[in-house]
Amino acid sequence: MAEQTIRIVVAGPRGKMGSETIHMIHRTPHFELVGAVDTKNEGLEIRDLEGLPDISAPIYTDLEACFSNTTPDVLIDFTHPEAGKQHIQTALAYKVRPVVGTSGFTEEEVQQFKVKADASQVGGIIAPNFAVGAVLMMKWSQMAARFFPNVEIIEQHHDQKRDAPSGTAIKTAEMIQKDRSTVRQGHPDEVETIPGARGANVDGFRIHSVRLPGLIAHQQVLFGGEGELLTIRHDSMNRLSFMNGVQLAVEEVMKLETLVYGLDTIMF
Ligand code: NAP
Repeated sequence: MAEQTIRIVVAGPRGKMGSETIHMIHRTPHFELVGAVDTKNEGLEIRDLEGLPDISAPIYTDLEACFSNTTPDVLIDFTHPEAGKQHIQTALAYKVRPVVGTSGFTEEEVQQFKVKADASQVGGIIAPNFAVGAVLMMKWSQMAARFFPNVEIIEQHHDQKRDAPSGTAIKTAEMIQKDRSTVRQGHPDEVETIPGARGANVDGFRIHSVRLPGLIAHQQVLFGGEGELLTIRHDSMNRLSFMNGVQLAVEEVMKLETLVYGLDTIMF
């Protein structure tokens, strides 16, 4: 039996992740790009934008007009946190399933989106990291935290990233917190002679954010024990690394009637 075609709108088509997503949709036989939402280029088509495939999907600057004219099943959003927030709310109101990679939402905001999705029985996925290897890194870090409560996270990203710490680091910290017994890490009389030297404090352990040109998305989770050190590390070498996860999320969101947070919720 032929797979059902999934009609998709992409927000942020000129962005690094949005453009990679459009190439992935073009390669996937049962996906159809029916429109895009940009901050400019109203009236043009995707094929008119440099570096994008030969697809005749129209570009809108207004998401509501885009939804009304293109009737998509799914919105994929890779924009900025403020735009992403608006887009999720509009998508849920139009019963379009949001698949969101945009990072920078608070826990409370995600909870509010979930309440709205539940009320209208629309599926949605927000994932701070769509790389399958990164999800395994988070899952294994949660397992390790049971045995090694002394832990620090070092996340490294390109210098154009706006939010710190990364959504992945926050999600990793939340997962670690579930299984880590609360211990006081470091010396009780530790003093920061330069403020911020020890990074951000999450429930007694630290997250350090590095921003440099040349980096893409990398994270190490370091666990220290008596006479041993365990490091769990993931590196995204390019943005293709996120596309298997985005494809999986688009397929799985069609079966959901609630909004979930994290690719792990649909992988395991
Ligand atoms: P980027 O290259 O800066 O692209 C963002 C794009 O969104 C830009 O083209 C921007 O247009 C557009 N945009 C902003 N506001 C918009 C709006 N209201 N409507 C439509 N388009 C809008 O950034 P990126 O590297 O692709 O990353 C995008 C987001 O994804 C970030 O939050 C990043 O942290 C996140 N990310 C997530 C993952 C994951 O696996 N979940 C992986 C990588 C990145 P202008 O240039 O005109 O503002």
